[in-house]
Amino acid sequence: LVVLSKVNKHYGALHVLQDINLEINQGEVVVLIGPSGSGKSTLCRTINRLETIDSGTITLSGRPLPAEGRELARLRAEVGMVFQGFNLFAHKTVLENVVLAQVKVRKVLRSHATKTARELLERVGVGAQADKYPAQLSGGQQQRVAIARALAMKPKVMLFDEPTSALDPEMVNEVLEVMRQLAADGMTMVVVTHEMGFARSAANRVLFMADGKIVEQNTPEAFFTAPRSDRAKDFLSKIL
Ligand code: ATP
Ligand code: MG
Repeated sequence: LVVLSKVNKHYGALHVLQDINLEINQGEVVVLIGPSGSGKSTLCRTINRLETIDSGTITLSGRPLPAEGRELARLRAEVGMVFQGFNLFAHKTVLENVVLAQVKVRKVLRSHATKTARELLERVGVGAQADKYPAQLSGGQQQRVAIARALAMKPKVMLFDEPTSALDPEMVNEVLEVMRQLAADGMTMVVVTHEMGFARSAANRVLFMADGKIVEQNTPEAFFTAPRSDRAKDFLSKIL
């Protein structure tokens, strides 16, 4: 579904993505882990073109990522992204947050967008909060609204960049549970996370990144029980 081929990116002298080759298949859940600064966020951001690349190609459904204009707006809709911060519109209600982009970007009728929004808010367990403002919700609830908002765009793939890192511990699981459900429903997902329990239970494949390279990739069982590279062994010894 998403194919990266020989992708390179620099920030000045820093070679942040080095010859990245990666194929993400339809329905696959790929968990991306690795030390801070290894390029995980940058890699995610290249997939919806929040970052440009210096060389190589990225395709979605066989088509190169568009550079600008209406095509780019459509790409951003097709590649849903949920970050660490909640990024909801503070002055809009929860419901309006989920309705808005459907109407503006997808050109969906408001009545239909509202119906979809209510269904999605229900699905992520915040249906009762629809008429509140983001600040009236807990962090976990806000993050579930952010997921519903991305889903409202009917994305082909969802990118999650440390979606639970900013949450109080007791709220982490409610968000991971929504993500698990999404994975079980067949959504194609790329997830940057430090939640190794989630990686073990939900990932089809774990990618380990270090210094701008994908150093190792494997099934979660194999990766966590028998990492091959010294970098991965060292990383796991620090976090497990
Ligand atoms: P973390 O686990 O801390 O989130 P990461 O693996 O997501 O790390 P990135 O955010 O992708 O790492 O950053 C990779 C490297 O690129 C880091 O050294 C970072 O300082 C650098 N970097 C990221 N964004 C920029 C930018 N806009 N300009 C210059 N350097 C950047
Ligand atoms: Mg990051």
